Amino acid sequence: MSSSPRFDRSHTDELIAFLSASPTPYHAVASAAERLEKAGFRQVDEAAQWDGTSGGKYVLRGGSIIAWYVPKGAEPHTPFRIAGAHTDSPNLRVKPLPDSGAFGWRQVAVEIYGGPLLNSWLDRDLGLAGRLSLRDGSTRLVNVGRPLLRIPQLAIHMDRSIYEKGLQLDKQKHMQPIWGLGDAHEGDLISFLEEENGITAGDVTGWDLMVHSIEPPAYLGRDEELLAGPRMDNLASVHAATAALTAAAASDGLNHIPVLAAFDHEENGSQSDTGADGPLLGSVLERSVFARGGTYEDKARAFAGTVCLSSDTGHAIHPNYAERHDPTHHPRANGGPILKVNVNNRYATDGSGRAVFVDACERAGVPYQHFVSNNAMPCGTTIGPITAARHGIKTVDIGIAILSMHSARELCGSDDPHLLASALAAFLES
Ligand code: ZN
Repeated sequence: MSSSPRFDRSHTDELIAFLSASPTPYHAVASAAERLEKAGFRQVDEAAQWDGTSGGKYVLRGGSIIAWYVPKGAEPHTPFRIAGAHTDSPNLRVKPLPDSGAFGWRQVAVEIYGGPLLNSWLDRDLGLAGRLSLRDGSTRLVNVGRPLLRIPQLAIHMDRSIYEKGLQLDKQKHMQPIWGLGDAHEGDLISFLEEENGITAGDVTGWDLMVHSIEPPAYLGRDEELLAGPRMDNLASVHAATAALTAAAASDGLNHIPVLAAFDHEENGSQSDTGADGPLLGSVLERSVFARGGTYEDKARAFAGTVCLSSDTGHAIHPNYAERHDPTHHPRANGGPILKVNVNNRYATDGSGRAVFVDACERAGVPYQHFVSNNAMPCGTTIGPITAARHGIKTVDIGIAILSMHSARELCGSDDPHLLASALAAFLES
């Protein structure tokens, strides 16, 4: 182990609490907002007139949050420094008419959100969480965090071909959870949620509900050097960026405006009113310039000087599948944050972006690593290139290296979340 700042267990303990409190993107932004409020940030209403006062502010829209800290003496053309991330994770989401079943089993009809490893959802105790829209126009976050549902795998005796062919799962037929016994009646699931949450029967008129593993995150390994848990992709980044923003807000002499931008809908392409490919970030930054008396020219100057470190998980070298990785780029758990490079712009990083990242890591005193795909493997992507292209903002893709990406339970080094947060804080504070 090298010297400071490793290993700060308090950050990872805090991440565990964040993951547990955030089974959905709506809960994740509420968890981030709670931490920002404690640091003195205040929510601003998108429908209200904004003022140009200094201090910490944030906007919540669905499963997305944009937070920023205006230091005293900031000019209208003061540039931004943005820590970007996404709040959503692949999972199973409740269909409009969920009450189904057969042969005395009650089931909940679900759609597949994003690209989960389907097998990882089998034979787990699952909870149900999300947001309910009520007749009076309000919304309620709900979380049934006890064992409520399960997708039982077929017994080996009934399909021995899985030894040769591997497990074949049909997204429609094989992924419908059971949640008890009896006949299904339309409205059962929503009535149950109304009852569980003390809501008058019939008051729920809309919902966005999703399934989550209720098993809490846990340290793992001989020396507890690993962390196993759900939604590390990408709540580890959301949590690190939130911690970095509150640290930056407490620092002196900022010559830019530090920003947290965490978006929903990355896992299905980011094209929504709350996604990174929507107008949310641009409109918030622009309004912040105008609220401080800025002009279009000030906005253009501010954007020209703005840099975004966009953080998302990447792949650590897998000991059982080393040939799937690049032969010489081998990100390791607890090796520090990774710089993600793809010359075909699946990641937005270029040489000058690398310099920004290296500068942040060096000032934070944290090690760093490089990720690049094997040329024969298609490379994933993230919100970085979208942010760069949509807003013309210089963007660098970074993250932490994990295993089991898109599993219901992922695995990372227990040190890396803190190392990422330190690098992001150095970036936002500089
Ligand atoms: Zn991700």
